[in-house]
Amino acid sequence: KHADTAMYHAKNLGKNTYQFYHNAMTTKAMERHELLTDLRKAIEQGQMVLHYQPQLELKSGELIGCEALVRWEHPTKGLIAPLRFIPLAEESGLIVPLGEWVLEEACRQAREWQLAGFKPLKVAVNVSNIQFNRMDICQLVTDKLSITELEAKYLLIELTETSIMQSGDVSFEMLQAIKGQGVGIAMDDFGTGYSSLGALKKLPIDNLKVDKSFIDEIPENSESKVIFKAIVAMTKQFGISLTAEGVETSEQCDFLQIHGCDFIQGYLLSKPLPPKEMEQFLANHSEP
Ligand code: C2E
Ligand code: CA
Ligand code: CA
Ligand code: CA
Repeated sequence: KHADTAMYHAKNLGKNTYQFYHNAMTTKAMERHELLTDLRKAIEQGQMVLHYQPQLELKSGELIGCEALVRWEHPTKGLIAPLRFIPLAEESGLIVPLGEWVLEEACRQAREWQLAGFKPLKVAVNVSNIQFNRMDICQLVTDKLSITELEAKYLLIELTETSIMQSGDVSFEMLQAIKGQGVGIAMDDFGTGYSSLGALKKLPIDNLKVDKSFIDEIPENSESKVIFKAIVAMTKQFGISLTAEGVETSEQCDFLQIHGCDFIQGYLLSKPLPPKEMEQFLANHSEP
């Protein structure tokens, strides 16, 4: 943001353009470098935390799962959101150790809650494109389930529409192998990429998450509503369940319920919660 402003001024200054541009870029590069150095240590020093966002089944009104979302508790900068460091982790390759940690921690936590007597929840874990291409996710999943003693049916792997569609046949095999273990696969951010509804038929996925940007337009935009109904019809046909993400209003929830959406996730229900608060949420929403 700071750099953008400086560049904007630079454009309007003419002759000192280079100097301004240069300074802005240097500051940005220094910030990045600093963050990257910190990120390396952060994973080892246990500064990463997972927050959990509850997911509700509309038909039964029951809590059925949660999505694990990573945050960085920086010693001086405070809580840092994933969009500020995931891209950096991807570019630097640090996404590999980070992703391993996230997967193990999510499985460990889900198992811990089960052992504590809460109703068993499915935990959804985000896997980035880079991670998916660089490592044997299937083997990693096997290892982490075994270490944490979590049953496969309680784990769901989320991959974005773009990363699934780009990956081609080899990765379809990888997805099949993960599914073969009993782990679910969800296509994240659906509606932001270019895949057609028809293409869904061929994909080895169990769940489709309709992107927030799409849900935002419901119920005002009639075109979005028509498309949503088509998505419901198509996924039902293919035996894929549907999750709406970023649900914020009861109007959206009503529409989704009436038109056969299976699960919702969003601020209407809850923001992502730190483990202790999620535990409280579970205690309030699980039957005794
Ligand atoms: P995502 O997977 O699409 O996750 C949903 C994001 O939407 C989360 O942001 C969540 O806090 C936010 N959200 C959920 N409901 C609402 C709502 O009702 N309103 C609004 N305004 N926002 C809502 P968050 O936690 O900042 O994560 C952003 C992205 O960072 C994620 O998008 C995901 O792509 C990535 N990410 C998060 N954790 C991980 C991780 O462990 N590994 C990887 N590879 N990526 C992650
Ligand atoms: Ca996700
Ligand atoms: Ca998403
Ligand atoms: Ca998203």
